[in-house]
Amino acid sequence: MKKIFLKPGREKSLIRRHPWIFTGSIDRIEGKPESGETVMLVSSSGQPLALGAYSPQSQIIVRIWSWDVEEVISPDFFKARIARAVALRKKPLLPDPTDAYRMVFSESDGLPGLIVDRFGSSLVCQFSSAGAEFWKQPIVEALMGIMNWDCIYERSDMSSRRHEGLEESTGLLAGIEPVKPVVITKSGRQLEVDLASGQKTGYYLDQRDNRTLAGGQADGLEVLDCYSYSGGFSIALLKGGAIHATLVDSSAQALEQANKNLLLNGLSADAFTLVEADVPKALRRFRDEGRSFGLIILDPPKFIESRNQIDKGARAYKDINMLAIKLLKPGGLLFTFSCSGHMEDSLFQKIVADAAVDAGRDLQILRWLSQGPDHPVLSSFPEGRYLKGLMGKAY
Ligand code: SAH
Repeated sequence: MKKIFLKPGREKSLIRRHPWIFTGSIDRIEGKPESGETVMLVSSSGQPLALGAYSPQSQIIVRIWSWDVEEVISPDFFKARIARAVALRKKPLLPDPTDAYRMVFSESDGLPGLIVDRFGSSLVCQFSSAGAEFWKQPIVEALMGIMNWDCIYERSDMSSRRHEGLEESTGLLAGIEPVKPVVITKSGRQLEVDLASGQKTGYYLDQRDNRTLAGGQADGLEVLDCYSYSGGFSIALLKGGAIHATLVDSSAQALEQANKNLLLNGLSADAFTLVEADVPKALRRFRDEGRSFGLIILDPPKFIESRNQIDKGARAYKDINMLAIKLLKPGGLLFTFSCSGHMEDSLFQKIVADAAVDAGRDLQILRWLSQGPDHPVLSSFPEGRYLKGLMGKAY
């Protein structure tokens, strides 16, 4: 096996079991490993430390597969890691029955660069690192070994693949082509998921518990669901007794899917309004029209992609939160989120606090929210906790 020697002192993060090695930590590379090949990391004093996947084009030049240098990284290794991830997601961790959850969550499940989402009897995979790409075939075989899925579909159409020297890639990996959307059932709510052309893997599974929580608070309220996508929150809110929901999203395709999903749940077409618009603009318009709501969801896309976007992103989060808080009736509830990994909890709380001040309102924080347990966080890899949220009450 080819070896990569670290600079003196650079073994610290590895000893702390952080799974990424950056180019700046490398002293020298023995031989010429190919992209995705398994390499052994060695300290400057010659001590073997870990096994990982080499990614020559990425700033993260190695992602760790194992801290046990005796482990054999082979198809069986992937089979075992995937089996562990599947076992974790059984009862009692997830409500039973559920047929939609994140089955493999990358670093957090010891499989850097691999995401597998389950939707009914289909799977959607993202391969985002050179190592995951290298082992794609054995990974697909391991997944097929769990059960005879109708379809395993690849949605590696994210720009981050370019950092790994990989092209975007989508299409069927196993089974039969998904000709129509898959219908999933989550906490008694039904939803159509378009595996081939939905956003990301088709549906945002990470918000399951937060949708249930918000739904439980919605009885009798007029609600506003900003960045609604396919209606996940609105279904929960209306089923929870909300008298009317306004969904805002800039994507016509998302709203069309939301419309279908709301009707699929037996909700009446006059219980909701779909607004195709930019959220900040729509919020300003609602303000100018003197509208107000009893409960508002703010679940925007990632505003911060890299460290140097933190300030700009923070201003964007503050703007929508300020506008939303202004639109809340006295005693109204806000569920506000950030899925930017670079946003720290403390900064998010400060942004929301500043937004409340600018809105001229008091805001009580009732809960700190995050992703569901099918998106676990490895204690040595806090970066895995990307979703932050607050539930607040405005006076
Ligand atoms: N709340 C959703 C997930 C939101 S994902 C759920 O529960 O499933 C973010 C959504 O924001 C996407 O649907 C995207 O189309 C939409 N979006 C992105 N930029 C937007 C903008 N400026 N205004 C309105 N919607 C936007």
